[in-house]
Amino acid sequence: MKTIVIGGGAAGMMSAGTAARNGQSVVLIEKNKILGKKLLITGKGRCNVTNACDEVETLIRNVPRNGTFLYSAFYTFTNADVMRFFEDLGVPLKVERGERVFPVSDRSADIVNALRKFCVDSGVEFRTAEVAEVLAVDGKTAGVKLLSGEVINADKVIVATGGKSYASTGSTGDGYRFARKLGHTIAEPKPSLVPIETVEDWVPELMGVSLKNVAVALVDGKDKKIYSDFGEMIFTHFGVSGPIVLSASAHARGGVAGFKLHIDLKPALTREQLDARILRDFEKYRNKDFKNSLADLLPQRLIDVIIRLSGIPPELKIHSVTREQRSELVDLLKSLTVTAKGFRSIDEAIITSGGVSVKEIDPSTMQSKLVEGLYFAGEVIDVDAYTGGFNLQIAFSTGYLAGQ
Ligand SMILES: Cc1cc2nc3c(=O)[nH]c(=O)nc-3n(C[C@H](O)[C@H](O)[C@H](O)COP(=O)(O)OP(=O)(O)OC[C@H]3O[C@@H](n4cnc5c(N)ncnc54)[C@H](O)[C@@H]3O)c2cc1C
Repeated sequence: MKTIVIGGGAAGMMSAGTAARNGQSVVLIEKNKILGKKLLITGKGRCNVTNACDEVETLIRNVPRNGTFLYSAFYTFTNADVMRFFEDLGVPLKVERGERVFPVSDRSADIVNALRKFCVDSGVEFRTAEVAEVLAVDGKTAGVKLLSGEVINADKVIVATGGKSYASTGSTGDGYRFARKLGHTIAEPKPSLVPIETVEDWVPELMGVSLKNVAVALVDGKDKKIYSDFGEMIFTHFGVSGPIVLSASAHARGGVAGFKLHIDLKPALTREQLDARILRDFEKYRNKDFKNSLADLLPQRLIDVIIRLSGIPPELKIHSVTREQRSELVDLLKSLTVTAKGFRSIDEAIITSGGVSVKEIDPSTMQSKLVEGLYFAGEVIDVDAYTGGFNLQIAFSTGYLAGQ
């Protein structure tokens, strides 16, 4: 029996190696010259391979879109299995904040090399080529046609072509085209875990300013809080990005336009504590101008903007600042607010939300319900998760199941 796997990413390599180990003759076709091009850039080059949470339920909870479709996949190849898999292949792992799992080496290349070795040792044949079409005859998979025109016959084809984000890594949405042509429904691909464009004209002035240890709250148009988090963010020429902003974006499933992001610049201090802290600084600088009083409190590049937004005249002597003005300054520092215009494009998204409809895939095998012998694995399927290693867990679990 011959199996073709399209795509040499996380899901493709996992499914190819697994199928080959089960006695299938497997050809893995990848259009890039190297395998795992996206994997290499995951986790800022460190690859957050999975999440070490205790329960499968927690994995499911972190998949806001079609999470329950993944029960079989997650139970068949759990996060513990993923960790054992890499450690058995000689990649020691470590667990960091939020149960995020990384290679001890902090090198995503070690993860790619381990997956490649798994494929080689299992007897997978590699081809560098672009698949143009998946072939089916009478409702049964027949093979693939390459861009060169060459046809490779196979009884089984696993589509592991990824999503549509970061297209330069090879994930250009080809799998959606293959699936649609064979009768599958494609939920519209949309960006998730994506930077947010903002309205305020002062934001681009702060381009490159990175804030560590801030808290953000995303509220919708009706002022309902839909997400809050603590950590790191960055201002850009178009708006805001960084880990907590990307996570926030995944919670705004229907779009983000008109939403507000409240940034607490001093989350470790209550309003009262912050006021006391400012009073101390004001005492220290009492004969200086207001514009020269915030250097101990804020990063230099933020000060000009905060002064402008505070409405307090920059030249006002500190001893003349009123209690009300100080109170408004505290409000500003506890809730610096930006208004969302929309998401950045899908190409800048960490993850594609949308893809091949889960209603048309058997959750216990990843086989298409429409075409016999056709399987899907990874981001091409209409599932997507939050940050924390959950997206790669999806790729590995669905890849393993399809390979089986
Ligand atoms: C910057 C960034 C950082 C990330 N960090 C993390 C992280 O730390 N942890 C985490 O869990 N997730 C992370 N993700 C998400 C994660 O990388 C993806 O969810 C995961 O790689 C999806 O795996 P996949 O195998 O489905 O697709 P991909 O890894 O995208 O692989 C698909 C492969 O198919 C190939 N292909 C496509 N079409 C064809 C064709 N027609 N013919 C032949 N080959 C084809 C592509 O070239 C590609 O190599 C990150 C994503 C990005 C963009």
